[in-house]
Amino acid sequence: HPAFDVNAVRRDFPILQERVNGKQLVWFDNAATTHKPQAVIDRLAYFYAHENSNIHRAAHELAARATDAYEGARNKVTRFIGASSPEEIILVRGATEAINLVAKTWGVQNVGAGDEIVVSNLEHHANIVPWQQLAAQVGAKLRVIPVDDSGQILLEEYRKLLNDKTKIVAVTQVSNALGTVTPIKEIVALAHSVGAKALVDGAQSVPHMRVNVQQLEADFFVFSGHKIFGPTGIGVVYGKRDILEHMQPWQGGGNMIADVTFERTIYQGPPNRFEAGTGNIADAVGLGAALDYVDRIGIDNIGKYEHDLLAYATQGLLTIPGIRLIGTAADKASVASFVLKGYTTEEVGKALNREGIAVRTGHHCAQPILRRFGVETTVRPSLAFYNTCEEVDRMISVVYRLATAGR
Ligand code: PMP
Repeated sequence: HPAFDVNAVRRDFPILQERVNGKQLVWFDNAATTHKPQAVIDRLAYFYAHENSNIHRAAHELAARATDAYEGARNKVTRFIGASSPEEIILVRGATEAINLVAKTWGVQNVGAGDEIVVSNLEHHANIVPWQQLAAQVGAKLRVIPVDDSGQILLEEYRKLLNDKTKIVAVTQVSNALGTVTPIKEIVALAHSVGAKALVDGAQSVPHMRVNVQQLEADFFVFSGHKIFGPTGIGVVYGKRDILEHMQPWQGGGNMIADVTFERTIYQGPPNRFEAGTGNIADAVGLGAALDYVDRIGIDNIGKYEHDLLAYATQGLLTIPGIRLIGTAADKASVASFVLKGYTTEEVGKALNREGIAVRTGHHCAQPILRRFGVETTVRPSLAFYNTCEEVDRMISVVYRLATAGR
């Protein structure tokens, strides 16, 4: 990878020097959250040291600086995901809040009794529960696209679920539990073919591949800052402008109004209409710095490097006796979920942690897809571009030792 120097990249992430149980940390829990480059840490400190204010531009100098920094971050998000205007970008706390916002505004306005909402078997609970709540509230029905034995969406089955009652299709671009990359462009196009809207959960895709929401023709696209090397507590709803313009606000309060009397309130247009109260200004600015950082490395370089690293990890894991990989789709990103015969996933996680290697064990907030494969939990290493083949080797040798130790 001549365009990509992993050792240089690693020096940008101070936490990678951390020692855990006497060993250098190996961070394979990137699907849960990612680490922050020094550029993001510095940007947050700079904001609080030189720009901190609420965002009401006209009041004074620091207010102008904070407003520029915050709106600058919105512009960076706009460019990063290929939206057509910053007015299509609503800043929220994370992907969970983003999906709830859409379900509780667009959903309540546009989904009625007898209508249908389609999700896939792969979804994170964040892209199931809000739709289930909406269905219960309005008397709609939740329908589920099944997956094949590799963990890939069955497009033919999806086609059969669609009809003129389908109002929204909400599907992930990358599964957080299995790593499956779904055929999201086709999924969106098929939703549109029956007049439904499409929400794409991009929480696990934006850190690993180039995303262009206009190319996808997504009506809504959501992601979390903390999974793309930005701070926690900041996330994004992209919505097509003509849709947002017709959406009622969710929370009411300051910032989102044009005029208030005791008789009535006139709301601002999007995106302000959906950003009641003081937002997470500093962390939005931090997210902007994270997107700048990813741009400097190059998302295509990142994608290529990670693709090869995941192939290397997968090959290595498959040499271990008694291992079962869960999720074997041809197109995958970052994640290599597995179970090991004779051990609970917790035991495998603890053995790895003793060697300084962090993986998630558990249900990964995606119980339905794990149950599809007959398991309640998996061990889930998830890779990022700062990981290396040597780190993968360390993980595999620990699991290999367990597998061959006998008990
Ligand atoms: N969707 C997917 C696919 C995810 O992986 C996650 C986080 N694990 C979420 C949604 C929710 O993101 P957050 O917890 O940051 O709101």
